[in-house]
Amino acid sequence: MTVRRLAVLGSTGSIGVNALDVVSRLNREARGPRRDVWGLSAHRNVTLLQKQIKTFRPKAVVADAAVVAALKEWARPRFPNLQVWSGEEGLVRLASHPSVDFLLSSVVGAVGLTPLFAALKKGKTVALANKEALVVAGDLLMAAARRHKATVLPVDSEHSAMFQCLPIPSADGVRPLGLKRLVLTASGGAFYRHEGSLDEVTPEQALRHPTWKMGRKITVDCATLTNKGLEAIEAHHLFGVPLDDIHIVIHPQSIVHSLVEFVDGSMLAQLSHPDMRVPIQYALTYPERRPSPVKPLRLEEIRKLEFHTPDFRRFPCLKMALEAGRRGGLLPAVFNGANEVAVQSFLDGKIPFTGIPRVIGAVMRRCAERVSFPTLPDIVSADRRARQKAREMVESWQQSREVPCLS
Ligand code: MG
Repeated sequence: MTVRRLAVLGSTGSIGVNALDVVSRLNREARGPRRDVWGLSAHRNVTLLQKQIKTFRPKAVVADAAVVAALKEWARPRFPNLQVWSGEEGLVRLASHPSVDFLLSSVVGAVGLTPLFAALKKGKTVALANKEALVVAGDLLMAAARRHKATVLPVDSEHSAMFQCLPIPSADGVRPLGLKRLVLTASGGAFYRHEGSLDEVTPEQALRHPTWKMGRKITVDCATLTNKGLEAIEAHHLFGVPLDDIHIVIHPQSIVHSLVEFVDGSMLAQLSHPDMRVPIQYALTYPERRPSPVKPLRLEEIRKLEFHTPDFRRFPCLKMALEAGRRGGLLPAVFNGANEVAVQSFLDGKIPFTGIPRVIGAVMRRCAERVSFPTLPDIVSADRRARQKAREMVESWQQSREVPCLS
């Protein structure tokens, strides 16, 4: 029987946990190849990582440097052959290891970039849930994938939907034939129906997503609509479609995960209940489809599917993300770095919800140097500068209550 050896980066996060659930179920089926979990990486959730080690018996694990000593001590008597690595170096080692042929990258934020390049350079199949990596370095990543004949499969539900509707495999950087535009759907996030000002809304409120259960950073990104901006940039890179041909609609039911419009006026959509195991499993079994535990869709129970235009004024992060994507160069990295700091500062109670776009806007104005074809070191340093500026902005905000203006 064929065995596929997987590495899951970010295995204790929401996507990682769902992915391991999918793998267990696929392995219980008699048909199809077996999927061996060769490696796992987690940040600091050692308790869950230990559980996953007991269940999946990986050959290697990576954890944050702060917890790696304790993890090694725990593993030594129980799993003497388990290799325990740490930090970015460990992630690169795991992602590019010759024993791994399929990488699921579901770490959050720009930290996933270097391990991703390492895997693509080895021509591996990469299922990509780490959208920030494509946002900051999409041109370089897709070029590396083409050069080394690596395959990039989308895991984000919207991009999986587009991928399922497109007639040819994507990720070759060529716009699919007959395609008019991509229609990206958004749930609208926690505040789509919120009346009145967003100045006083709390992190608890922002973390209440109406339809999807996900990690904290992405849930806040949904509430600001930043997530949709990042996803538009992600789609632009994955499918070779310019941002002006990516149309965003609010679809509060989260049943239609995105659509593809063709030049003859036809539209194809992918529908399912909002459950990440659908796109994760499709990436794992592509081009096949296998049964899944996800509840079948009963359209007569759903009855109503709505689509609305997003409110760009109320959610300025969306406009700024699209602007960054259109201008390209280093701006997507600047936007993303500033956003990661701003979101964390909001979650820590340092700035209000409406402070997130203000911090991002101010950082974008200060770090707007034009570099048309940035290299990876250019991107890494732009990301660092944007984070630094964002931190300074948050600090001065806390000290003086001086609010950067949003122009
Ligand atoms: Mg998504």
